[in-house]
Amino acid sequence: MNNEKLAPENFKVLISEARIQQRLRELGAEISRDFQDSKPIMIGILNGGFIFLADLIRHIETDLEIDFMRISSYGNHKESTGHVKVLKPLSADINGRDVIVVEDIVDSGLSLQFLEKLLSAFRPNRLKFATLLHKPSKTRVPVRLDYVGFEVEDKYVVGYGLDEEQLKRNLRQIYVVNE
Ligand code: 5GP
Repeated sequence: MNNEKLAPENFKVLISEARIQQRLRELGAEISRDFQDSKPIMIGILNGGFIFLADLIRHIETDLEIDFMRISSYGNHKESTGHVKVLKPLSADINGRDVIVVEDIVDSGLSLQFLEKLLSAFRPNRLKFATLLHKPSKTRVPVRLDYVGFEVEDKYVVGYGLDEEQLKRNLRQIYVVNE
């Protein structure tokens, strides 16, 4: 199946499907080693993180649970407002559990900072953060990232779960949008 015709002319491939899948194999192996004696709960952050979570867990060789949270900080705008809201709270009880939060992209870092504060209050045993993409040049608060897929420069990216005004999440590669 190839749906790349959904990518208009101004989308340029930044990370190919093959590179994404290769990196997921590496991250999966790392997480399998780090959590071999535990059954972690992996929390996918909706909407953007759902494809990353779905593909990543299939490279992990330890039993695990999944759960989802939905937060919003952007609306349809491309700059972080800094106001993070919980739109769907956690269902699982993470008290005393090993937790891995799975994000699509860390930009300003405000969402992650908010999640760290919120989830630490439930007193998990271990709280780790995985993100497919990180834009270090945009990050303006200290963030602790344990698993990073790729560092990217300060450009708006779409595809593989990441949206352009709620569309294009189903693209199989990651693109940079040229204005
Ligand atoms: P932060 O709170 O770190 O500024 O932003 C995190 C959220 O902003 C991400 O989970 C994602 O939803 C959105 N975001 C930040 N940069 C981009 C980008 O380049 N492309 C897309 N599609 N979303 C982004």
